[in-house]
Amino acid sequence: MYKCSLERMSDKIKTFSKFGDAGHGGITRYSLSPEAIMARNEFIKRMTAIGAKIECDDVANLYATIEGSDPTAKRIVMGSHCDSVKNGGNYDGILGVMSAMEVLETVVAENIPHKHPLTAMIWTNEEGSLYPPAMMCSGIVCYDYLPEDIRQKFKYEDMMNSKSILDPTQTFGMALEKSGFKGDKKFRLSPDRYQYMFETHIEQGPILEDNNKEIGVVDCVLGMFNYRLKFYGQTTHAGTFPMPKRKDAFFAASEALVYLHTEIDKLVEKLGVPELVYTTGEVVCHPCVHTCVPDFFEFSFDSRHEKPEVLEQVLAIVKSCADKTWNGCKCEVVKAWNRDTVYWDKKLVSYVKAAAEETGVSHQYIHSGAGHDAQFCAYVIPTTMIFVQSKDGLSHCEPEYSKPEHCTDGATVMLNAVLKADAE
Ligand SMILES: [Zn+2]
Repeated sequence: MYKCSLERMSDKIKTFSKFGDAGHGGITRYSLSPEAIMARNEFIKRMTAIGAKIECDDVANLYATIEGSDPTAKRIVMGSHCDSVKNGGNYDGILGVMSAMEVLETVVAENIPHKHPLTAMIWTNEEGSLYPPAMMCSGIVCYDYLPEDIRQKFKYEDMMNSKSILDPTQTFGMALEKSGFKGDKKFRLSPDRYQYMFETHIEQGPILEDNNKEIGVVDCVLGMFNYRLKFYGQTTHAGTFPMPKRKDAFFAASEALVYLHTEIDKLVEKLGVPELVYTTGEVVCHPCVHTCVPDFFEFSFDSRHEKPEVLEQVLAIVKSCADKTWNGCKCEVVKAWNRDTVYWDKKLVSYVKAAAEETGVSHQYIHSGAGHDAQFCAYVIPTTMIFVQSKDGLSHCEPEYSKPEHCTDGATVMLNAVLKADAE
């Protein structure tokens, strides 16, 4: 049993929090921005210092590898992303990178014997906050292995042409060329050279804190569906048109949303599935003028649960909205996309659990409600994740926080799980 260093981990947290420091406790660190390049250079500096070999693939995914005793063994890789959302926190993504670095640093400092080469990595553009979509570069690298409907969203050419949300004249491809991190395709993560993948990440929810557990032994990424509900009414003048004759699409959508909450909550009660989540986070209103009755309103509807049979019943309620008119408005229900639950490799999950037990780190099983690069990687090589407790369950915001002790214990659990995988 080996332990990672609190002192070294705290130093990394402090150092990486400077790259993109927005001045009030968090960071804005878009992928391939000058701030992200500072984080990448710090990664290279620290990994080179322990004798790791640095490689960069053609979409700037960055790999640092220390050799093992068996020259024929494939690599065991650990990593996450170093980009953030706008005004994000100091832990989402970068914690998985720092944990991977910490594992390598501990292995070198303590001279821990291992057969397999061990790799720490940074995935490019996980958040997709400047250049959509999210998980862009794991999508590109894992492309050939992804299910067809997911794969379509990650065509190489489309990704290179992804426009900056701040400046549409700039594309991801241009940022990649300029970054100095466009390497060789031969360095991409692949099953010929890589054996296993581990990703440590903050939980981004309150479950571990509520249960007073430091670490989550993650067993899957939840299945989800994402639909759009569209309501068609008639625009008229807000001052002249009598209320009873209106077809107000906004009001229609509001009624439908209340209906969805009521019916789905009844279903949750009936099935006994309080962990089911559903969200309307995006809306479109037309013409969106205060003197006009809206003739069009659209909202997103995202729902997540482990079991497909539960999601099917939720979806049936969503689809039933199209069967009636709402405040005189027609409703259309359109699928945006969905994904099935991705289960982590059972053997690797058991190594994480055993490592947590042996190192005395409090833990529980947990599902991931969010998407991560690891979920694409799971189609390529056996993969798993470790969660670290998030204060108040907050993420994608500046108050995002995980205790350095918990971060270090997360790295300790990953180190010992990796050594179990190495010893097979
Ligand atoms: Zn993340």
